[in-house]
This record gives sequence, structure tokens and C-alpha cells, in this order.
Amino acid sequence: MARKSYIPGDFELIVKRSATGLGLFAEGEIPKNSCIIEYTGVQISKEQEEKSRSKYLFEIHARKTIDGAPRWNTARYINHSCRPNCEPNIHKGRVFIHAKRKIKPGEELNYDYGTNYFKEYLKDICACPKCEEKRVAAKKDAAKQAARKRAAKKVARGAPASARRAKAS
Ligand SMILES: [Zn+2]
Repeated sequence: MARKSYIPGDFELIVKRSATGLGLFAEGEIPKNSCIIEYTGVQISKEQEEKSRSKYLFEIHARKTIDGAPRWNTARYINHSCRPNCEPNIHKGRVFIHAKRKIKPGEELNYDYGTNYFKEYLKDICACPKCEEKRVAAKKDAAKQAARKRAAKKVARGAPASARRAKAS
């Protein structure tokens, strides 16, 4: 495989409304593995990091964190997905967002923010397809269990003793 480029390509991107506030969208097709954009920001100290309430912190390594909150960091508009089409890659102390697969015009860009961020902020609200599927499955499961409980109650109440014994064995 060709080595990854760390020079963002000249892709047309647009910030607009998405399912979860604003998002960053591709206006044209983006080939797989392309370097799309750099996640930029202000480098902050460990002390500042601990006090910071920014949701745009990106820890590059143990001694370097950037706060990507400034609006000129267009990459801050990329939302989280548990089944993303992009991924962040650290290269020489900087963060670049690459396409994990071919991205079609009009698609929203997203990447996985990582387990810690997910647990802290997104667990119950993530609207990505994977989480929606999980929620639907959980609801179905709960409904099934409730139905099973109702059925069990009916058997216990309505069935003759022999049937109850047969069920129990
Ligand atoms: Zn999700």
C-alpha cells in the first residue's frame, strides 16, 4: 500500500446542519485513504488541560494536547460515529483526518472519538447508525422479555397443574 500522505487534499467541504447540530460534509467525492484535513488548535499545558472544559481537546501524546475549539479549526465540526468513514492519524505531533473508505458527495464526515470520550459524553446520545441499531435491538429485547414474562404469568395463572409441571421441567 502506498504511504499515507499528510498533506490535506483540496477537497470541498461544507459545514451545515446534521443530525446532531453542525457537521462537516463532503461536497465532492473523496477517495479512500485521502488526507482530508488537519485537526488544528491551540497547544495547551497539562495544567490547562485539567482545568479545561473544552470538548475539543485532542491528546496527541502524553505531553501534548491541543484544544481544537477555535472556529478556524474546521475539523472541529466533524462529529463522532461508532462506524465512521474517517479516522484521525497523528503524524509528527499533528493530527490529520484521513478517509477510511471512499466518501460520496453529500456524505457527512465522522470519526471515532475514542472510548473515553464516548463513555463520558456520548453513550446515551450517540445518533450514529450503529448505536441506533443497538438501541432498537435493546428495545426489541426488552419487549420480548416483557412478553415472555406476561406469557409465564398466564401459564402460572390459567393452565392446569399438569401443564404447569410440564413447563417447569
Ligand atoms: Zn454510536
